[in-house]
Amino acid sequence: MLRICVLASGSGGNCTYVASPKTAVLVDAGLSARDTMRRMDLAGIVPAGLRGILITHEHTDHTAGVSVLSRRHGIALYANSGTIDGIERNPRMRTLQWNRFMTGAPFLIDDLTIEPFSVPHDCYDPVGFVIHTNGTRVGVVTDMGMTTTLIRERLRQCHALVIESNHDERLLMESDRPWTLKQRIRGSQGHLSNQHAAELISDVAGPELSHVFLAHLSEECNIPEIAIECTRQSLDAKGMTHVAVHCTRQDRPSNVWQQATSATSVPVGDL
Ligand SMILES: [Zn+2]
Ligand SMILES: [Zn+2]
Repeated sequence: MLRICVLASGSGGNCTYVASPKTAVLVDAGLSARDTMRRMDLAGIVPAGLRGILITHEHTDHTAGVSVLSRRHGIALYANSGTIDGIERNPRMRTLQWNRFMTGAPFLIDDLTIEPFSVPHDCYDPVGFVIHTNGTRVGVVTDMGMTTTLIRERLRQCHALVIESNHDERLLMESDRPWTLKQRIRGSQGHLSNQHAAELISDVAGPELSHVFLAHLSEECNIPEIAIECTRQSLDAKGMTHVAVHCTRQDRPSNVWQQATSATSVPVGDL
């Protein structure tokens, strides 16, 4: 059984809580420590079981809270060497204690198995994670410029997915953003559009998939209803009408989702 709650998602800070009955981790810590704790409280999550923070990549919207969460709250930090190098370019971040993992090599945190895998994004060594325990799998991938065969392979047979659905192509191109920024976002190391997210999700979805959380939505170049509709249509076209699609928010936590049996799930708390 795994519980999952996206505490925050977007360019202002990303943080996702994943927990078995025994062990909890955060994927990324892009909120301040105070805000992270406040949102866990709001979601009814007790932080005492937190055993680690898994960092996908060094961008500030994924790392802003690591220093205080590690020092003041004693939570262990996990990242690969490239990401640690990237974080340590900031002199104030050089004294943190890290647990290094190798991209592609699964590791354990108590009863959670963590599988980090490469994703294309404009930083040192970005990864996504699959976290599993006792047959329940959750995939978390944000900040990817395009999908790859490896990403699709890793995300198959998951019960829940947190996937970037960053922008609507038309809204991005019609926005006031500079051309170079538009090209960076659309590029192969930028961010995933609604259309590409929908294709990825419907490609990897299987009978066991219950919940999809669309993540890292651009506030300027996306609209939650458009993002949901895009993935909904793509899933329905493949007969995957059983999958619930949710949008995550920058300003508040998602529902807490919990795997109840091998084929069903229940939301606990509606935030
Ligand atoms: Zn990001
Ligand atoms: Zn990023």
